Amino acid sequence: MKCNGMRKEKTKNGRKIDVKCNNELGKHDFFCKVCGQPTGALSGPLSAKLNYQDVWKKFKPIKSQYYPFAIFMVLTSFLIIGLGIYFNKELAESFKLDPYLFTNLMLLILVPFTLIPFGFEDNFIENSFKISMYVKALKNYPKYFLFVLVNILYFLLLKILCTGYLLGIVVDPILHPVRLILVLYWITIIFPAVLLISRKDMNPIKAVVFCYKASAETRWQQFFIVFRLFIMNIIGAAFAGLGLFITIPFSYILIEKYFQSLDEFELFD
Ligand SMILES: [Zn+2]
Repeated sequence: MKCNGMRKEKTKNGRKIDVKCNNELGKHDFFCKVCGQPTGALSGPLSAKLNYQDVWKKFKPIKSQYYPFAIFMVLTSFLIIGLGIYFNKELAESFKLDPYLFTNLMLLILVPFTLIPFGFEDNFIENSFKISMYVKALKNYPKYFLFVLVNILYFLLLKILCTGYLLGIVVDPILHPVRLILVLYWITIIFPAVLLISRKDMNPIKAVVFCYKASAETRWQQFFIVFRLFIMNIIGAAFAGLGLFITIPFSYILIEKYFQSLDEFELFD
């Protein structure tokens, strides 16, 4: 494919004129190396909006097929995590732990279970859910555990730096919004890591580093994916949480599909 951007060229008498770029574009380029014109990768195959619409169009007519999966996931992890956070103070007291420590220990143990579907062997987008798929994929638990631990340590570091937690010092209030941005930025950049761990058998630390490097051009689209899923699941959780039976399976499928789109651009090679 040739670039249809414009670039400046000097004529014999020293004048600058605009000419069509026509540089040969690489299959996986985001921008033309000569004139800097975007190639359409970010507004096409890697666009958050198009991936979302594409997955929703395929998912919507068959969404009831995913109810057993959604019910299973809610009962085995999401509901327990939700109750743990809701009753965090009471539970921490009964275990005689600091509430922050209690919440993070609980998340460290339980969140890896929510990641198990990313390791299903038969691509669960096309195959109907069986509990045996989940049991088989449990072998990835230790790697997800380490991955969640890396996240918790990063968030703890931010809490210490931005709120003075544990240090007992007063910090500048500007650090509170800074912390929020760093949390959002982190989630945006590293969400594909969980698939690198399962699908490419990478160790969690290497996967995080890979994601950090790979997201140079795609981070805004990744942010829009995270943002859309966040809003969708908030809406799903309203009305007694019934919408979650649709939004939870949809979230898994969209994350997996978007990872495949990133992978097709050889961002993780
Ligand atoms: Zn060009």
